[in-house]
Amino acid sequence: MPDTDPDSALFDVVIVGAGPAGLTAGIYASRGRLKTAILERNMAGGQIALTDLVENYPGFPEGISGFDLSQKMKEQAEQFGAEVREIEGVSAVARDSEGGFAVVTDRGTIRTRSVILAPGVEPRRSGIPGEADFIGRGVSWCATCDGALYRGRTVAVIGGGDSAVEEGMFLTKFADKVYIVHRRDELRAARIAQERAFANSKFEFVWDSVPRRIEGKDMVEALEVESVKTGEQRSLPVNGVFVYIGQDPNTAWLEGVVELDDHGYIVTDELQRTNLTGVFACGDATVGPLKQIARAVGDGALAAVQAEKYLDAAGGSTAAPA
Ligand code: NDP
Repeated sequence: MPDTDPDSALFDVVIVGAGPAGLTAGIYASRGRLKTAILERNMAGGQIALTDLVENYPGFPEGISGFDLSQKMKEQAEQFGAEVREIEGVSAVARDSEGGFAVVTDRGTIRTRSVILAPGVEPRRSGIPGEADFIGRGVSWCATCDGALYRGRTVAVIGGGDSAVEEGMFLTKFADKVYIVHRRDELRAARIAQERAFANSKFEFVWDSVPRRIEGKDMVEALEVESVKTGEQRSLPVNGVFVYIGQDPNTAWLEGVVELDDHGYIVTDELQRTNLTGVFACGDATVGPLKQIARAVGDGALAAVQAEKYLDAAGGSTAAPA
């Protein structure tokens, strides 16, 4: 852990991650007149910035693009004084000698009196042969980013959850045919998404099947799948493969810092407190049954309010933002 620069600004709260949870924590913290920084290794928005249409976040009966929603949240946090720092990843958080924390980023070390962890999740890789070789040449985890490349073509989506079905639905705007390759004979996705998918003639469901290999020369040409019931192998002629088999929390760097569960999710109490006093957590990277924006924003608000209470007990805010 590098030494912190004693002259660098001392924040009241540093929030790690600018998805819905982190941005909401930022809105509440800055409205509470805490000197707040939100650090994000990519662009603000997290997973929702890559989502075509968000239909289940209250207040938008027509739905709203994930990108627009995340931009509005970012704008709102900045409006109240939070400093949103994009393309600045965090690699470590540790207590400093003055009872606060040193947050190590790509650009240096930041001093803060409290921390809110909202690092989110990232899409899981299948690990099948060909997946890594064809990244950017037909293998993707982002239909919103890459879907338009498949106009008039055939793609496969792997998975049966909300992401697979909703992103597969988005792909039908471009592709002529979308295979959904699922390892069971029943989807996990929400009922409304299932109903739409079953009514869409561009979908072909490949049930009880797991992907085995992605093949091609320069670009993806086929996805080999195997029936889990019969062992029969089948080659699907596809130009693209979209992998939606779940997500993993971005918490490897937090091992030994705060308590994580067996799957790497951050353990908090009902007030979003981690086991390290002064460090709070919220969003999809925390343990909890519902990975939804609605829950992330609720937990983000609670984390910020708890951080404020913690700082009040420790002597109040360092400096009110302008
Ligand atoms: P999920 O974990 O919900 O679904 C993953 C899917 O991939 C499951 O169907 C699973 O099969 C399958 N799968 C897992 N591992 C493998 C493997 N190794 N090989 C083949 N298939 C595999 O992940 P999602 O990314 O879809 O969603 C994550 C969370 O985000 C969920 O809570 C979801 O509800 C939420 N979400 C909500 C949205 C919304 O509300 N609009 C949109 C997108 C996500 P099986 O079913 O057999 O376990």
